Amino acid sequence: MFKNYYPDIYIKSVYDIDREALLNKGIKALLFDIDNTLVPMYQKDADEKITKYIEESKKLFKVAIVSNAAKKRVDRFNKDIKMYAVHRAGKPNKRQLLLVAEYLGAKPEETALVGDQLFTDIAAGNSAGMTTILVSPIDKREAIHIRFKRILEKLVLLNYKNI
Ligand SMILES: [Mg+2]
Repeated sequence: MFKNYYPDIYIKSVYDIDREALLNKGIKALLFDIDNTLVPMYQKDADEKITKYIEESKKLFKVAIVSNAAKKRVDRFNKDIKMYAVHRAGKPNKRQLLLVAEYLGAKPEETALVGDQLFTDIAAGNSAGMTTILVSPIDKREAIHIRFKRILEKLVLLNYKNI
């Protein structure tokens, strides 16, 4: 019953993504959440490590940011990396994900969504028919409403591991 929240791939961090396996699966585009996926929420700028990672990914895939955060946050993080980026994306709604994939020239089944939240990122990616990749949130210190969601996420993932 939680199927729409189950990621296809569950890994610790974006750096653990098996890019070769994704290419073999026919994935052409990667859509990234920012907060707690690429960098912690409190980190405004992209650091050297994540910049290098994105630059490497750009050689293999079309890449984009699909974030629910405000324009200011997304623009500042993206100022040097300059990915195609959407702010206030409205995840778990799939609409923006589908538009971004189309813009990048990838079908939903050729697109992977990478995020740290089941009820926004993964739900949106699954609804859109994309491959979904869940990463563990980088920073565990989160706002109370997100911590509550994390408890619910744990319950869903317990079920996921038992299937
Ligand atoms: Mg996030």
